[in-house]
Amino acid sequence: MDLEERRTRIRQKMRDGELVSNVTRQFSVCAGPGQGPPCSVCGRVLGARDTEFEFSSGVRLDVQCFTVWLEELGRG
Ligand SMILES: [Zn+2]
Repeated sequence: MDLEERRTRIRQKMRDGELVSNVTRQFSVCAGPGQGPPCSVCGRVLGARDTEFEFSSGVRLDVQCFTVWLEELGRG
């Protein structure tokens, strides 16, 4: 998946409320080793060697998607 597609999907999830779009809203995210389910954005399978970021909404992201999400969040 290229960066633009990744970015588009993340923006969509932010609009849908699956991903936090406003830092003033309370949310929690857990970082840890992957447990098998794929990244919610790019579909990459997250194994024990990968780091996954799991949100309270149930969305999980790999490092690349998480980084893009942070950029989008900072954009406001
Ligand atoms: Zn991903």
